[in-house]
Amino acid sequence: MTDVTVVGGGIVGVCSAIALQNEGFRVELVDRGLETEAASYGNCGLLATGEIVPISKPGILPKIPKWLSDPKSPLFVRPGDMISQMPWLMRFLWSGRRRKVLEIVAGMTPLLQRAEQDYRALLETAGLSDKLVNTPNIMAFNSKADIDGDSFSWKLRTTNGFNHRFLDANDMRAVEPALSGPITCGLLLEDWLQFSDPGIVRNRLAEFFLSRGGSLLKASVSGLVAKGGTVTAIRLGGGEQVEVKRLVLSAGAWSGKLARDIGIRVPLAALQGYHHHLPNPAVTVNHAVLYANGGFVLTPMETGLRIGGTIEVAGLDPKPNFDRANIIAEKAKAVLPGLDISGGKQWMGPRPFMPDTMPVIGKAPAHDNVVLAFGHGQVGMTLGATTGRLVADLVAGRKPPIDMSPYRSNRF
Ligand SMILES: Cc1cc2nc3c(=O)[nH]c(=O)nc-3n(C[C@H](O)[C@H](O)[C@H](O)COP(=O)(O)OP(=O)(O)OC[C@H]3O[C@@H](n4cnc5c(N)ncnc54)[C@H](O)[C@@H]3O)c2cc1C
Repeated sequence: MTDVTVVGGGIVGVCSAIALQNEGFRVELVDRGLETEAASYGNCGLLATGEIVPISKPGILPKIPKWLSDPKSPLFVRPGDMISQMPWLMRFLWSGRRRKVLEIVAGMTPLLQRAEQDYRALLETAGLSDKLVNTPNIMAFNSKADIDGDSFSWKLRTTNGFNHRFLDANDMRAVEPALSGPITCGLLLEDWLQFSDPGIVRNRLAEFFLSRGGSLLKASVSGLVAKGGTVTAIRLGGGEQVEVKRLVLSAGAWSGKLARDIGIRVPLAALQGYHHHLPNPAVTVNHAVLYANGGFVLTPMETGLRIGGTIEVAGLDPKPNFDRANIIAEKAKAVLPGLDISGGKQWMGPRPFMPDTMPVIGKAPAHDNVVLAFGHGQVGMTLGATTGRLVADLVAGRKPPIDMSPYRSNRF
C-alpha cells in the first residue's frame, strides 16, 4: 500500500505529490484522466504573485446588477442557476466589505509572497526551469481614471511589497506595439510572471512524479470511506474500494462533493472560465496583458496566443456556453488589429472558488489522516508549488512556516 493517496491530479495535486515524494513517502495520484477539463489545463498561465486583493471588494456592489444582467460582462450568473447559487453569491459579496478584504489580503500575502521561490525550486528540480517565463505582466486600461478608481487595491498591493510602474500611451506603444483601440495606459506588474503553457507545466510535472517512482491510478473517485476519525479507503466509480493510509484531497472544484462524505461542508463554487486559444494569431504580444476594461487576459504561450478569462456562475459541470469564449475573442480583436481568430480552440473549465477567495489548506477537522488542498480560485496555478510544500509539511507532521488558520475548512 502507498503511504499517501492524492485525489485529483491538477496542478495542486501534482505539486503536492512531488513535495510528498521529497519527504520520502510513496505516493499514488488518483485522477479520472480528464486533464483537459481541469482548470490547470486551460487557465491564463499567470504567476499572479500580486493578486492578493479579492474580486469582491469595496466598490463592487454598484456594478453587480449590470454584470448579472449582461451576458457580455466579466461576471455573469446563468439565469437558471441564480437561485441555487444565491447563498454563495451573498457570501461572496459579504466578503467584499473593507474590514474583511484587509483580513483576506493578510491571508493571501504570505502564500503569494512564496509562490515564485517555491516554483523556481520545484521547476529546477524537475528540469523545467524554462517553463517559467521571466517576463512581467502588464495590466492595460482605457484611462488613468480606471486605475485611480481602484486605488484601494493598488495601494494594498504596494504596501504588501508587490510593485507596479505606470506606463503612459508612449510606453504602452513601446512595450506592446500591437495593442491599440481604446487602450491609453497601463501598469507594469513587476513581480508577476507567466508560465510557457500551464497544461504543459502540469503534464511535465506529472511525468516527473512518475519518473521518480510515483504511481497513477486512472479512476474516478465517487466517495471517501471513513471509520471513526480515519479515512480508510476511497470508493471508485465502479464501486470497488482502494485502501488508503493518508489522503490528500485536491480535486479542484469537485472537492466539495467528496469532502461531504467526511462531514465537511464548504461553500465551494465552480466559477467557469473560458479561453480561446489561437495557434496562429498573426499578431505578436510580448507580455501577458490583463485588459482591465475588457475583462480578459492575453497570454503569449509556447503553443500560441491564449485569450482567457470571464467568470460564469453556472454550477458544477454545466454544458459549455462558448458564446462566452466568442465574446472575449471579439473583444480582443477590438484592441489587437489584425488578430486572426480562425482555427482557435475554445475551452471551459471551473475555478474552485471559496466566497472569500482564500483556499482551503489544512488537516480535515475530524479526520487526522486527511489533508485538504482545494479552493484556490483565480490563483491556483500560481499557488501550486507553495500548496504542495504546505501539504507536505502537514502530512509529515511538521508545523508549516506560515500561520495556516486563514485557510481552515470550517471558517464559514
Ligand atoms: C479561465 C481561467 C483562467 C485562470 N487563470 C489563472 C492564472 O492566470 N493564474 C492562476 O494562478 N490561476 C488561474 N486560474 C485558476 C487556476 O486555473 C485554478 O485555481 C487551478 O488550476 C486549480 O487547480 P486544482 O489542481 O485545484 O484543480 P484542477 O486543475 O481543476 O484539477 C482537479 C483535478 O481533479 C480531478 N478530479 C476531480 N474530481 C475527481 C474525482 N472524483 N475522481 C478523480 N479525479 C478527480 C480532475 O480530473 C482534475 O484533474 C484560472 C482559471 C480559469 C478557469
